[in-house]
Amino acid sequence: MTPAPHPQVTEIFRRIGVALPSTDGAGLLVRSRSPIDGAELARLPVIPRDAMASSVQRLKGAQPAWARLPAPQRGELLRQYGLLLRRHKAALGQLVTLETGKILQEGLGEVQEMIDICDYAVGLSRQLFGLVIASERPEHKMLETWHPFGICGVISAFNFPVAVWAWNAALALVCGNAVVWKPSQKTPLCAVAVHGLLRQVLEASAPPFGDVSQLWLGEAEEGQALVEHPDIRLVSATGSTAMGRAVGQACARQFKRAILELGGNNAAVVCASADLDLALRAMVFAAVGTAGQRCTSLRRAFIHEAVYDPLVERLKQAYASVAIGDPREAGTLVGPLIDGRAGEAMQAALAECRALGNAVTGGEHVLQDRFPGACYVRPALVETGEQHAVMLRETFAPILYLCRFSDLDEAIALNNAARHGLSSCIFTDSLREAERFTSHLGSDCGIANVNIGTSGAEIGGAFGGEKDTGGGRESGSDAWKSYMRRATNTVNYGRTLPLAQGIRFDL
Ligand code: NAD
Repeated sequence: MTPAPHPQVTEIFRRIGVALPSTDGAGLLVRSRSPIDGAELARLPVIPRDAMASSVQRLKGAQPAWARLPAPQRGELLRQYGLLLRRHKAALGQLVTLETGKILQEGLGEVQEMIDICDYAVGLSRQLFGLVIASERPEHKMLETWHPFGICGVISAFNFPVAVWAWNAALALVCGNAVVWKPSQKTPLCAVAVHGLLRQVLEASAPPFGDVSQLWLGEAEEGQALVEHPDIRLVSATGSTAMGRAVGQACARQFKRAILELGGNNAAVVCASADLDLALRAMVFAAVGTAGQRCTSLRRAFIHEAVYDPLVERLKQAYASVAIGDPREAGTLVGPLIDGRAGEAMQAALAECRALGNAVTGGEHVLQDRFPGACYVRPALVETGEQHAVMLRETFAPILYLCRFSDLDEAIALNNAARHGLSSCIFTDSLREAERFTSHLGSDCGIANVNIGTSGAEIGGAFGGEKDTGGGRESGSDAWKSYMRRATNTVNYGRTLPLAQGIRFDL
C-alpha cells in the first residue's frame, strides 16, 4: 500500500482543484521529499515505456490541429492559463516552497515568473513575424517565414521546478507546437500541479486541446527516453553541465535541435568607485538567495584592493546575521539545501579550500536539532589569494569565493576564466568601466549586468549562457525563434526566370 500524501500536499491539491495521479497498479514510483524537514510528501508513478509511446501518439495526433489554430487563439488559451495561475498563486508558491525549500517569497516569485511568461506569450501570439528581404533578381521578393516545429521535449531541474517549464512551454505552445515535459525527480508534485492546471484550460477549450501537453514523471532514464524518441525533434534541457553534455550528444546523433540551459559559475566585479551599500545588498541576495542553488547564484567576487577590506568586513557581518530557517516562516532568508548530498558537496569544496590555505567563514551545518532529517547550512565566504580549481567548478551551494584585483582587465580575465558562461555583473560608478565590462572586450557571459547582481533575470530578455552553460536562450527577446522552423521563400512575380548569381542556363 502506498502511504497517503502528506496532509499539506492533499490540502494544496484540494485548493487548486487538481487530482494527484493514482499509484494503483503502478510500477516504479518517484518519491517527493520536502527539504524543509526530510518528510516524505508523496509517491508518484513513473511513466512506463508503453505509456510513453501512447503519449507521443497523442502529441502527434493533436499537434497539427493545434498548429492550424491561429496563433492569437493559442495565445488566448495561455491568457486563460495565466489567469488561473494568478488565482492559485498563493497555493502554488507554498507548494514550490514545500518541495524545493526555497523561501516563500521566492516560491511566489517563481509562480509570478510563470504568469509573466504567459502574458508575454499572449503578446507574442500577435508578433510571430518574419522578414521581407531585398532580392537580387528583378520582380522577385524574398521572405523569411516561421512555422511550428512539431513536438518539443522539456527536461527541467529541481531548483526552478515550475518557471523553467513555463518559459519553454508557453513559447513552444504559442508557436504551435505540442510539448512533453520530464520534470526533476526531486520536484514531481510541482509538475503535477502546474501541468494539471494547464490541462484544465486546454481541455475546456472548444475543441479540446488537452493532448498537446503531456507530463512524464521519472528519473534520468525517462529523460533519456524522451531525448532518444525519434518523434520529439526539439529538446530543451535545463540542469547540470554533465546532463547537458549527454543530452547534447544524443540530440546531435539524430540531428535534433537542442536548447541547453546548464550550470553557471557566476562572478561579480566590484570596482573602487562602486556604491558599496548597493553592492553589498546585491551580492548577498545573489549569493545566499535560494541557498545558493540558482544557476545564476553569485559564486565568485573580484573586489578592487581599495575597497576589499571594508566590503569583506561588511559581507562577513551580513553572513553572520542572515536568517536561516524554515522557509515557510516570515523573516527567513535562507532555507535548506535540497538534500544531504548537496551538503556533502559543499563541505568537500570547503575542505579543499582549507587545505589550500584559504580562510573560510561560515559553512557549518545548523538547525540539526530542529530538523534532523534536513540539511541547513550557514552560507560560506572563502578568501583566496588566487582563482584555484575548486573555485572554477560549480558547487551548487552557498559558497562565495573572494579575490582581490587591482586592474579591471585582470578582473575581466578572472571572470572569463570559468568554463561556464552564464551570468556576471560589475559594480561601478564609472561609465568607462561599465561600458568595457558589457562590451566584447568584457564579460564573455550570456548575462552581463551593471550595478545589479547575477541572479533574478526578467523574462523580457533572452536568458542563457555560453561555453559549458550550453549556449541556449529561453524566455524573452527573439528566443521564440528556437521553437519554430524558419523557411526562406523566394517569390517570382514576373514572367521571366532570372537565376541567382547571374547564371545563364538557356534551354
Ligand atoms: P540534473 O542535471 O541532475 O537534472 C536535471 C534534469 O535532467 C532532471 O530532470 C534529470 O532527471 C534529468 N537528467 C539527468 N540526466 C539526464 C540524461 N542523461 N538524459 C536526460 N535527462 C537527464 O540537475 P539538477 O541537480 O536538477 O539541477 C541543478 C543544475 O541545473 C545546476 O547545475 C544548475 O546550474 C543547473 N540549472 C541551470 C539553469 C539554466 O537556466 N542555465 C536553470 C536551473 C538549473
